[in-house]
Amino acid sequence: MGHTIIGTAGHIDHGKTLLVKALTGTDTDRAPEEKARGITIELGFAFLGEEATIIDVPGHERFVKTMVAGVSTIDVALLVIAADDGVMPQSREHLDVLELLGVERGIVVLNKADLVDEDWLDLVEEEVRELVAGTFLEGADIARVSALAGDGVEALKSQIEALVVQTEERRGVGPFRLPVDRAFVVKGFGLVGTGTVIAGRLEGREDVEVLPAGERLRVRGLQRHGQEVEAVQAGDRAAVNLPGVSTEQVERGDWLAAPDYFKPTYMVDARLRLLFSCPRELVQRTRVRLHIGTREAMARVVLLEGEALEPGGEMLVQLHMETPVVAVWGDRFVIRRYSPALTIGGGRVLEPHPRKHRRGDRQAVAYLEELDGTDAEAAVEVKLRYLGETLKADRELAGELGLDLERITSLLEQLAEDGKVALIRVDQALCAVHTETEAVLGKRVEAALEQFHAENPLKTGLRREELRALSLRHAAPALFDHLLQTLERQGRLGVDGAMMYLAGHRIQFSAAEEEQRDKIEMALKQAELADMPGVDELARLAGVGQREVESILRALQTLGAVVPLEGGLWLHAETLAAVQDKLRGYLAAEGQITVAAFRDLIQGNRKYALALLTYFDSSGVTQRQGDVRVLLT
Ligand code: GDP
Ligand code: MG
Repeated sequence: MGHTIIGTAGHIDHGKTLLVKALTGTDTDRAPEEKARGITIELGFAFLGEEATIIDVPGHERFVKTMVAGVSTIDVALLVIAADDGVMPQSREHLDVLELLGVERGIVVLNKADLVDEDWLDLVEEEVRELVAGTFLEGADIARVSALAGDGVEALKSQIEALVVQTEERRGVGPFRLPVDRAFVVKGFGLVGTGTVIAGRLEGREDVEVLPAGERLRVRGLQRHGQEVEAVQAGDRAAVNLPGVSTEQVERGDWLAAPDYFKPTYMVDARLRLLFSCPRELVQRTRVRLHIGTREAMARVVLLEGEALEPGGEMLVQLHMETPVVAVWGDRFVIRRYSPALTIGGGRVLEPHPRKHRRGDRQAVAYLEELDGTDAEAAVEVKLRYLGETLKADRELAGELGLDLERITSLLEQLAEDGKVALIRVDQALCAVHTETEAVLGKRVEAALEQFHAENPLKTGLRREELRALSLRHAAPALFDHLLQTLERQGRLGVDGAMMYLAGHRIQFSAAEEEQRDKIEMALKQAELADMPGVDELARLAGVGQREVESILRALQTLGAVVPLEGGLWLHAETLAAVQDKLRGYLAAEGQITVAAFRDLIQGNRKYALALLTYFDSSGVTQRQGDVRVLLT
């Protein structure tokens, strides 16, 4: 059995706070202003036995946002309705909020039974049954109570206990996170942030990250249920002591979370349900109040499947926030009309870090539909399938889906084993590319090469970065490398030094180019080293421009027929081989050679002698020692 969080709900003055006092002995309206005005402004907390905490929320319509923050994490709802007043606006609105946030269990409390007679109570109960029909409270217990006189309170306690016993230990999966519902400074102690742990576990000595600020903070102590503890975990009401931190650094709406998993976001994709009670249809880009966790943020609703959403309808949407929030797949939220504030709908986050979608983006809709119809573990494959040129680290997946890092790792390994993804290591992180994506992207690389070869028949291929720019400009470098390796392994891509080409690609000369090539090759082969033709001379001989000569020379270089020297000089490979033989012979006999001696040896000029020696130095044949060269190999 896990710790149970119980939340009150209901219209102002219907007796929520007095009921909490009758149940627990604790008056949650402690603040002077609350005492003076006789209303609840802040969230109040009281313990019910060892196993449960009651969060008392304000009922005034101005404080519905506080109410949403209070009940965003509850297990059991107590919907309080005063028998003399009956169902009132915030009875409805609070019920809507509970329903939208996915609360599943609760009790309706008909309070102030002392003020009315039995017949009246029967009538109000009838009204309540209509109110809750079709909601999670349909068929729930309806307790007749007087919080003031104490009638029915003991019976209600037993009914609550019956629900508390049903609270299952939360599995606690995922990195630790706690949406802060109160933050205050205790003199000489530092800041204390309280909230319900949504997921994971925090040990007393670990750091936490405050979000969306992203600051890392040291934890000094933890309390659970008012007691010092070593660790807190999912489902616990926790107080986290953060020494040296001010109330500007941590406030209601922030998260305290395991570091480096969650990133703030200005956009989320979600499924949105509009309440039947929403006064009118929701149109594109309507500005609303978004309540998520304990945070309120202004947002615009981009409808992805139409131009308007009718009351009672559902649609996939993208929310554009004005201030950053943090969210995880599956997180519930509520939206309220901007002015006058009224709860109009809510839903579930599907993608906390989406791309910006255009209206009617079919692919985005297909993606979100798949994410919506699955669980967090199966969502891993869905996410990977739609990633495109991006790589996502295991840690990011863990944060976005609310799953433990180890779980993500083993899911990725399993997917790899099943042939659904290929794993890619990037530094410490494990990433994966879906095989469907791999195939699509691989084809794009091939298509880029094919086009390049068609346009440049004399070139071997492309350098890695050139190819990336032409095919997958936005691809993560590690993903691009992986794709090249895969294509090479599959025999679809050839690599020659820094050059990539399509397997089977050969340099192709046109008939005219063949003629020019032969002239160029012949001229280089026959010339004396003292009178070697330059590119300009070759152009004249072949009857084409220098650029054409350059590309033919490059092609010949690739084919091994010619060799470039520094300074834009070209030699035929056979000439070079002959020179090298001569040089080796000389050095074998003499041990060393000067530039002048080398020039005489080859009967060339100083320009070619220098360029050749530089070439032999850099290709490891010779080594320069002062004014002379010696044989290196
Ligand atoms: P909340 O706004 O829902 O928290 O309501 P409170 O608990 O502050 O109660 C509002 C007023 O109703 C207070 O004056 C309470 O004393 C009174 N009240 C609450 N419960 C009962 C009840 O069962 N019977 C009667 N007669 N008065 C009640
Ligand atoms: Mg109250």
